[in-house]
Amino acid sequence: MPKQFCPSLKMRLWREPCAICGLVGDIEIDHIIAKADGGDGSPSNAQPLCRVCNILKREHKTNAAVREWICLNASAFTQRQRRRLETKRKMYRP
Ligand SMILES: [Zn+2]
Repeated sequence: MPKQFCPSLKMRLWREPCAICGLVGDIEIDHIIAKADGGDGSPSNAQPLCRVCNILKREHKTNAAVREWICLNASAFTQRQRRRLETKRKMYRP
């Protein structure tokens, strides 16, 4: 399996909201398991992330860890991202 995602997969995911904060637009395709950690270009290893969450995920590694960080540092985010995050947080509560 190649390390890069195929163009049609990218085209599809670019239209989806960020898998972490729900933001629409400014989407980048993230390797859920980083290439450096052995992740490949299969569709199951792909997720749409906004630019901000993608940067954060490089540091925090998992979606859950990024979400946690965003919750603790919410003032660093735009109104729109925070509003989306609130909705998501409600959804993620057990
Ligand atoms: Zn995001």
